[in-house]
Amino acid sequence: MSSKIERMVRTWDDPVLKQVCTAVEPGDKLDFVEKLVMVAKKYRSAAGVTAAGLAAPQIGIAKRVIVTNCRNTRGTVATRTMINPAIYARSLETEVAEEGCLSYPGKLKRVRRHAWIEVSWLTLERRPMSQKFSGFEARVIQHEVDHLDGVCRVGDDSPDDVDVIDESAPFTADDAKALSGEPNVKVIRRLSTSAIHRTAILAAVLAAGIGGKGRHS
Ligand SMILES: [Zn+2]
Repeated sequence: MSSKIERMVRTWDDPVLKQVCTAVEPGDKLDFVEKLVMVAKKYRSAAGVTAAGLAAPQIGIAKRVIVTNCRNTRGTVATRTMINPAIYARSLETEVAEEGCLSYPGKLKRVRRHAWIEVSWLTLERRPMSQKFSGFEARVIQHEVDHLDGVCRVGDDSPDDVDVIDESAPFTADDAKALSGEPNVKVIRRLSTSAIHRTAILAAVLAAGIGGKGRHS
């Protein structure tokens, strides 16, 4: 059974997840930010998943506000609120890693992101800030800023991303067949998240030449 906090997060086909959010204006009330921070800090799914970040539309508010909840270099989790975040510089270098999203529970995708970004934003006290981020935090910010434009690479169908998921069923011959049939295909079956299954899936993905090198049948 899902917790009360878990139920505050909008999921799947909720139309607010597809909306382009509006910028916070000087006169706007920001009461919802408290709830956003609370959900980001306290979220823990039945499966033990916690929130690395959360965007306002994920709690039903179509405003440009995100919260990140990432471990810093000293190992402590720091919560950061960004109002009207804007990514104004991006590395040419990109990295691929698995991402999940609280709005699409149980789904994981391998998503390519910029290795570092430079971001400007306003704090809750509306002080302008700008900073360079790299690694996991840069990935989280890119994911959350996508949400503000009604986009989620985990939930949306994107030809560049590959599903690697499954909560229940093992990787099957049908999955392998689906993968070998088309390049850039998504694994439709929900594949196991165990390390063994992930390895099997990635091996199958590589064998199928995902990324344009696969054969068309
Ligand atoms: Zn998300």
